[in-house]
Amino acid sequence: MSATHVVIGGGSAGCTMASRLSENPRFQVVLIEAGQDYRPEETPADLLDTYPGKALANPSYFWPDLRVYRNDSASAQGERPAPEKFEQARVIGGGSSINGQVALRGQARDFDAWAEAGCVGWDWDSVLPHFARLETDRDFRNNLHGADGPISIKRIPREYWDEFTLAVEDKWKRDGLPLKPDMNGQDGDGISPLPLSNDGERRASAALAYLTSSVRARKNLTIISNTRVTKLLFEGERVTGAEYVIDGRSDKITGNTFVLCCGAIFTPWLLMRSGVGPGADLVKHGIDVLIDRPVGANLLDHPSVSISTYLSPKARSRPILRHNYINGVYSSGLEGCPASDMVMSVVCRSAWHPIGQRLGTISCYVGKSFSRGSVKLSPEGPDAYPEVTFNWASDPRDLERLAAGMRRITAVLADPVMIGIASNPFASAFSDRVRSIGANSLVNRVLTRTAATIMDKSALGRKLLIDNFMAAGTSLHQLIADDERLKEHVRQTAWGLWHPSGTCRMGRATDSDSVVDPHGRLIGSRNLYVADASIFPEIPTYNINIPTIMVAEHVADMLKRKASS
Ligand SMILES: Cc1cc2nc3c(=O)[nH]c(=O)nc-3n(C[C@H](O)[C@H](O)[C@H](O)COP(=O)(O)OP(=O)(O)OC[C@H]3O[C@@H](n4cnc5c(N)ncnc54)[C@H](O)[C@@H]3O)c2cc1C
Repeated sequence: MSATHVVIGGGSAGCTMASRLSENPRFQVVLIEAGQDYRPEETPADLLDTYPGKALANPSYFWPDLRVYRNDSASAQGERPAPEKFEQARVIGGGSSINGQVALRGQARDFDAWAEAGCVGWDWDSVLPHFARLETDRDFRNNLHGADGPISIKRIPREYWDEFTLAVEDKWKRDGLPLKPDMNGQDGDGISPLPLSNDGERRASAALAYLTSSVRARKNLTIISNTRVTKLLFEGERVTGAEYVIDGRSDKITGNTFVLCCGAIFTPWLLMRSGVGPGADLVKHGIDVLIDRPVGANLLDHPSVSISTYLSPKARSRPILRHNYINGVYSSGLEGCPASDMVMSVVCRSAWHPIGQRLGTISCYVGKSFSRGSVKLSPEGPDAYPEVTFNWASDPRDLERLAAGMRRITAVLADPVMIGIASNPFASAFSDRVRSIGANSLVNRVLTRTAATIMDKSALGRKLLIDNFMAAGTSLHQLIADDERLKEHVRQTAWGLWHPSGTCRMGRATDSDSVVDPHGRLIGSRNLYVADASIFPEIPTYNINIPTIMVAEHVADMLKRKASS
């Protein structure tokens, strides 16, 4: 098989890339995705649902048994904790098919900082047209927004918000946070309804939005699914082909231009297996070093902590709504940290099951984090999943801000406005126990219904269930009373928002920290591009799916212009 453009990885970026490139009838585009492909009309109900909890509970959409380390050996206190399960999508649309649908761009200054770091053409004014192009914003019609792009973006009107969300909003307002109706257009501190990537009826994944039936009907686009690319084949500075495995047999595809869109964990893995990466590490694994670049360094995420609380029946999410968030952006004021660096978000339903319906959660994450992790080849060899280490909250500034965030959330939940709405607050964490009860099975449905009935009927039963099965470690009261304990809790439970990024950092070709140049071209190669979350030089302040799609739009545009020049 051969193509002019081979796009590897059919996730948020890959679907966007394949769709935009195949607009040029002179290109022959092949998109290769490791997971299952679904035509729009075949898409399962859990992927379409505007409430994302069910897709998250379906293991068939994820890379099986992927685990990540919280800390590297040096920063772990005492013995390094065992790696924990980590969700990464393996299905057409990638993360955009299973994620929380939060559709935020980040702040203008995030992209100006990219340009200052050497990414010419990625400042806010330059990326804004790509953000506008990818969306149809159903609430705002102005020069900041698109009106006819593939991704439908919509906020849930205030009249539909549940009592818990309204109570949090009330407290935040009294704390001095102003209302900011458009978080994709107004930067700075404030309270905003979350823009969501759905049209109110179904999810707008990159697969549904960009690979529509009419796009799929193009003669110059082929989608190959359930196929994993295992190696890129180089001749000098050019990639001439890619080896892949389909139905247990190996094959290869040749092409003129290759674009990697496997995400910030799998793109560096594929590069390193192919001889592109940190030379000394590759040599240790017996891999010939073709291009020596710091692939896999600079792993970024948004470290977060959370507190959950029992909601009285009147305060729970309304059945019609199924999903509701607001965000409160605030400034930590910590020395050396920028303004509007912290984000609190409110969920009136913490999981799909009956217990989740009774729990509200307020989380707090570091929008501008300093902690850095890495993706390396596994000591077990290049064929094993890579060794991923996040080091969430390892930087003292992140630790400090998350501990202060726990205090801030506690104060919100202790406010008199919560009387009759929320009780029994407890420090929560996305642990293996939460995952296992969150799997969508008959046993879990029965178990969670029984526990939920006890929670509603008896205050003592509720307390016992929360203290013994739901709370992450020490009681919230004890944590807040003791700074050291609180920080230890943050170290042990801080979790990212599933926003791995930065592992093929974009920057000046002359900068030894850069992996790709500002065109997305791998430095040292002639025809290999990376266009996914890996190329972020710095993480944008908010969620990263929309910035990732913007990256693919921008690089696709450059590739099309290059071909026509
Ligand atoms: C549980 C969860 C919740 C999230 N919630 C939100 C949210 O609410 N808002 C938000 O903005 N972001 C959210 N994110 C993050 C967001 O979805 C991702 O940042 C985004 O999808 C990254 O896009 P990508 O194209 O870089 O990678 P992905 O979307 O992960 O796509 C990579 C694709 O490449 C495929 N692939 C990998 N290796 C190979 C290979 N060797 N051969 C062939 N195919 C391969 C994978 O199967 C996958 O489909 C969430 C992520 C997760 C996991």
